[in-house]
Amino acid sequence: MKPYKNKINRIRSFALSLIFIGVVIMYIGIFFRKHEIVMLIFMFLGVLAIIASTVVYAWIGSLSTRAAQITCPNCGKQTKMLGRVDMCGHCREPLTLDPTLEGKEFDVAYNRPQKQKDNKETEIDSK
Ligand SMILES: [Zn+2]
Repeated sequence: MKPYKNKINRIRSFALSLIFIGVVIMYIGIFFRKHEIVMLIFMFLGVLAIIASTVVYAWIGSLSTRAAQITCPNCGKQTKMLGRVDMCGHCREPLTLDPTLEGKEFDVAYNRPQKQKDNKETEIDSK
């Protein structure tokens, strides 16, 4: 399996896990029924995690409207990509919007600002 996932899918699974974390925290709170304050703190944290997940979901919504919708050349399905390089959400085919990166091996480093990468290259050169 390829190590990278489509960014939108990754954020979505993060939001989903936040809901589960919130539920688990609230469930733990039930064990502290006798200590009302402790239980309330757990409940509050649980609700906070669920609210955070809602915020992340809203954020994904605004991200996907800005994301470029493209047809994956590998599986032919529609997928959305963020940044200069991303993975297809269906088959994890590496995709790029930058023609200079076409054909190159997929590297998450391409998403970092170009300046950072140049610094790294000069560092290697000077050695
Ligand atoms: Zn695909």
